[in-house]
Amino acid sequence: MAEELPRDIKRFIDGIEITEDGALMFKGHRFVFVPGVLLSISLMGALIERFSGMLNPVARRALVNYGRKLAEEMENLGARSVLDHYLSLEHLMGFGKNELVEFSDSQVVYRIHGSLYGEETGAYFKMKGIEPTAVCASRYIVEGILNYFAEKEGKPLFTSDEVKCKAKGDKYCEFVLKRAC
Ligand SMILES: [Zn+2]
Repeated sequence: MAEELPRDIKRFIDGIEITEDGALMFKGHRFVFVPGVLLSISLMGALIERFSGMLNPVARRALVNYGRKLAEEMENLGARSVLDHYLSLEHLMGFGKNELVEFSDSQVVYRIHGSLYGEETGAYFKMKGIEPTAVCASRYIVEGILNYFAEKEGKPLFTSDEVKCKAKGDKYCEFVLKRAC
């Protein structure tokens, strides 16, 4: 993965375009630069503080659907390549360095080193005296990717868990996705 990065970065930069209207585009989708702390607090910290876990099902559905959409767009590449693509894209976009630890038929494990949400939301929790919890939600996108292919293959679906999180003081975030037996 490390050796592939320069080529990935070049492809990433080549995909960026700024329109006359001032939109920052990447491969046909609009993006925006925001300070990491703003993104983390508005998408994670403040919602957890205000609503606890109440909004999780809503956020989860949106993220699963995003993963499914990615999988559908790149279906011919297969589950492993779509996942690799997603993990490398998140890395290039600054969400942290993803590492795929295990990819088997029954289980997928990946880590995020230096997770943006883990670091910034963890710091917010600390500042507000909120009990730290695992906050990173990219596992739902990965669920969406894997389960798109699981459904196509008529196999049982995966469910995910974040077993380590920087927001809780762990060294990195670790996600385990298990296929139902
Ligand atoms: Zn995390």
